[in-house]
Amino acid sequence: MAGPDGLRLADWSVMSTQMVESPDVREKEADTGPELFHYVDKDKMVESAVFGTFVEALCGEKFPVTKVPKPGSPVCPACKEIYDAMEP
Ligand SMILES: [Zn+2]
Repeated sequence: MAGPDGLRLADWSVMSTQMVESPDVREKEADTGPELFHYVDKDKMVESAVFGTFVEALCGEKFPVTKVPKPGSPVCPACKEIYDAMEP
């Protein structure tokens, strides 16, 4: 995958407090519910995973990192747009 260095996808685990409604969501994810992954600085992501600090994603969302992305996980559309625009 091409893209800027230093950015990794991270799980946004606070969906319940900041639910984003999307009229385009028709397909249900697994029973665990939708999990969006945001692009965050990989160093901050590690720090967050270890210390529970908040990281700011490309789209501006702030959340503590708790999970690493799984293959096929949905990516935050806003993050993806910014990430794609950053491609060298
Ligand atoms: Zn995002």
